Amino acid sequence: MEQIVIHVDMDAFFASVEIRDNPALRGKPLIIGSLPGERGVVATCSYEARKYGVHSAMNIKEAYRRCPQGIYMHPNIDKYKAVSGQLHEIWNAYASAAETVALDEAYLDVTQQARDLEGARRIAMTIKQRTRDEIGLTCSVGVAYSKTAAKTASEEKKPDGYFEIPTPKDFVDLMIDRDVRSLYTVGEMTAEKLYAWGIRTVRDIQEKQDTVIRLLGKQGQWITKLAFGIDERKVTPYRPQDAKSIGREVTFQEDVDNFGLLKDVLVLLSLCVERRAKRYGLYGNGVTLKLTYYDMKSITRSRITSPCDCAAVIWQEAVKLLDHVEKRPVRLVGVSIYNLSGEEGRQITLEDYFTDARQRRDEEVKRMLEALQDRYRLDFAGHLDQIYQMDTLHKTVEYMRKHI
Ligand SMILES: [Mg+2]
Repeated sequence: MEQIVIHVDMDAFFASVEIRDNPALRGKPLIIGSLPGERGVVATCSYEARKYGVHSAMNIKEAYRRCPQGIYMHPNIDKYKAVSGQLHEIWNAYASAAETVALDEAYLDVTQQARDLEGARRIAMTIKQRTRDEIGLTCSVGVAYSKTAAKTASEEKKPDGYFEIPTPKDFVDLMIDRDVRSLYTVGEMTAEKLYAWGIRTVRDIQEKQDTVIRLLGKQGQWITKLAFGIDERKVTPYRPQDAKSIGREVTFQEDVDNFGLLKDVLVLLSLCVERRAKRYGLYGNGVTLKLTYYDMKSITRSRITSPCDCAAVIWQEAVKLLDHVEKRPVRLVGVSIYNLSGEEGRQITLEDYFTDARQRRDEEVKRMLEALQDRYRLDFAGHLDQIYQMDTLHKTVEYMRKHI
């Protein structure tokens, strides 16, 4: 095998840590997140709670409706972070590169250490054993030739699972008759679009490649590759110090002197920044606004902020900066977050998980988008997940410029 990737994913992580520390919770539907009566969502729940249809990110009200007999608890983030540190020590011991996805999840490149499938299997079993013995928790592990296949494999036998997908052919054999949503990165919105064209399974994607690519552009190309088991991405250890900033900018076809339009465009750019920051689990500790005027003079203005990865906050800070610059015609506008830190570098507050702060911010972003739709007669419902692609972003911004 050219590349051997392990994907490790802890089973119901927050809930499992609580059960480990309080065996009286074992066998009960345990829901970590908000408490009933508060606003907020489920962070994680035990497998017993899942039987009632409760899942992560579900509104707590809905969770309570489905499972009133559940035990509800606020998360104990500091404890989970400490456990995550121990897990990473185990994982790092067997990989030449480890890419952290979340506190409880990582890709490991074990190509050198494992040499072959047999070796990878031994490493996977050792990781599972050590996680159980030293930390008292179970995990699911997938071994495969690619990141996507490894992630798919770790999902396959959850909880306490182990599964191998050695070749692209094995991947295709496994997935071919499954729903398109079973392909990594295909979400609800993308699936709806594919369904509308009668594309329901991975086989349909294979057979209607042209339609998929026409419908979804770059994302369609990626999905089509996945449908054939192709994913050449490398395991890249993320080190926050490697990245200086995360930003997005657009150049207008014609100079813009309407600063209201700039503010609106910054909503979309902030969303793009948020998306990338979240993908890498990064937070900015400052926001930068960049403008290039019609005469090619560029300026940047920055503000230090508390750690942020949220579009609403990024946008607010950018707009404050925009209010204080010279009002001359603009040809380029950009926003970025800088002074990045990773999950470990940031104090995760309980607020993140169980108060309504996160939900409030999401609602704020939704309101901002609705305002944009009204103002420009846009309809994001169909293509919001494509706005992150450069060409769609450009087209949308140009459309806004012409329809203000
Ligand atoms: Mg997990």
